[in-house]
Amino acid sequence: MSLKYLQSSRKLGVSPEIIERLKSVLGEENVSTDWTERFMYARSLAWPFLMKYPDVVVRPHTPMDVAQILRIANREKIPVVAKGGIGEGASVPLEGGILIDLTTLNKIDIHPEDKVVVVEAGASWHQMLAELRKYDLTVPIWPTYESAAVASAAFVNPSHGYGSTRYGVVADLCIGVEVAFPNGELLRTGALANEETEFGVFYRYPNGPEFTGLFTQIESNFGVITRLAFKTIDFKKEWLACQYFTFRRDQIDECGKAIFSLVRHEIFDVHFNDRWWVLPAIWEGVVKEMPEDAWFHISIINFGRTDAELRAQEEICRMVMNKYGGKENIEAAERLVGPTRWTPTYEKSNTEPWPAWNLVGHDSWGSRNTRNSGMWLTTSQHFPYRFFKEVYEHHEKIAKEVGIWNERYLPWHDSFACRDSFKTETFVMYNPYDPEDLSKVGEYYIKFFPKIVKMGASFHGLTIQFHGREAMEKLGPLYEWMKKLRDQIDPNHIMNPGTLF
Ligand SMILES: Cc1cc2nc3c(=O)[nH]c(=O)nc-3n(C[C@H](O)[C@H](O)[C@H](O)COP(=O)(O)OP(=O)(O)OC[C@H]3O[C@@H](n4cnc5c(N)ncnc54)[C@H](O)[C@@H]3O)c2cc1C
Repeated sequence: MSLKYLQSSRKLGVSPEIIERLKSVLGEENVSTDWTERFMYARSLAWPFLMKYPDVVVRPHTPMDVAQILRIANREKIPVVAKGGIGEGASVPLEGGILIDLTTLNKIDIHPEDKVVVVEAGASWHQMLAELRKYDLTVPIWPTYESAAVASAAFVNPSHGYGSTRYGVVADLCIGVEVAFPNGELLRTGALANEETEFGVFYRYPNGPEFTGLFTQIESNFGVITRLAFKTIDFKKEWLACQYFTFRRDQIDECGKAIFSLVRHEIFDVHFNDRWWVLPAIWEGVVKEMPEDAWFHISIINFGRTDAELRAQEEICRMVMNKYGGKENIEAAERLVGPTRWTPTYEKSNTEPWPAWNLVGHDSWGSRNTRNSGMWLTTSQHFPYRFFKEVYEHHEKIAKEVGIWNERYLPWHDSFACRDSFKTETFVMYNPYDPEDLSKVGEYYIKFFPKIVKMGASFHGLTIQFHGREAMEKLGPLYEWMKKLRDQIDPNHIMNPGTLF
């Protein structure tokens, strides 16, 4: 993102006539120019210093509503951005204009006989999983944001979550999308293109080239996704069981090899943290038996539909950890992740879509770590497993240089070992009202990104607009092709300008 967006106060404005036209399409109650509402939508969760007001906030209730909003915006050359549940940067309306609040577009339609769910863009991922549980089904990627993020953002980012070690990222399980374009057209891709036939929505490749992947990481460029279809799998909470292993700091090579070996064994979920992440749990006495030299922490969720299958998964994990020198910690599995065998006492609530255990919610690591430090900023990127050590030590070096490698800033790693890549998030806890903290955090970011951008990192969408154009330009001719495609689909460049292009 260019600095001009932080500095300029330019606003295009939307005329009263356009507001009236939007009201006539959507109904008065679904169009707001109220200052308080615009203020609320001007914010980004991850980047509190970035505030840009939309001129008008609109709430569609059908895919056709979205198409009509885009047609009006396109005719009048008004910028448009779609916003999900919380937002982490790329849904701040950098040039004002129309902000589409997707959360009113939230129907969920389950086809258990085909193991498919069709969901509107603004239904929360969490709500979709909760509905699927009624049929003992799930989409087996469970991010930690619970009800805060919407299904289309989970696809666009694309989200990773518990389950990503075996199943990849959310977009890998998507079999079709419906997209509204600036000319008011609605297009269905993949399995959704087959929706009107007798066989219906069942298979991603319906005949001819398949375009669903074109709409990942669009960040409201090209168009707005209105509906998505996902494949599901059979799921019961009883089929999960947790393990926990630690490594010393000098075992970084062995730790990286152990993680990659578990990925190759298709363990359901493997999660990586370092000691900074676990310190608040030690301070609060949540875990008591944590060796002083336990620096790297591996949480494992096994998934087996019979006890024999679960035991086999656990044995594989122990075999790998024995080979590389990881130490098992049963207390930490139970207290920081979840039960080593499911029991009803671990249920937080029977409406939870997956057990969640000690991983999310008010008594989980997120709340505990924030309580013990401050607000967090993250980086979030994918890279190949063989760079595990180099990326870890790059973060460590920069954090030491800027003076945040200490308990005050808890600069931890929180990483999802995904099927096809290692997705690491580096965190810095800071006080957003302290200028010295802001300057340290800024310096960390400025020093952290260039090296990994140059090495070829793929960024998780949440902060994509902050990596500079280099992250896009590394794509070479593909980026040029994207620009040509944009000129065709969005000739007036109204879709979230200033983000990808
Ligand atoms: C506590 C917490 C935990 C988190 N844990 C995880 C995690 O485990 N895994 C993970 O992957 N992420 C995680 N995140 C990050 C999360 O993925 C992002 O915050 C995500 O962007 C939130 O989605 P949202 O619904 O707020 O959508 P937004 O942030 O508003 O949208 C994301 C981007 O997608 C675009 N977009 C959204 N919907 C559409 C659409 N229909 N058509 C076109 N473009 C669209 C938006 O314009 C924006 O550019 C976490 C965040 C928090 C706060």
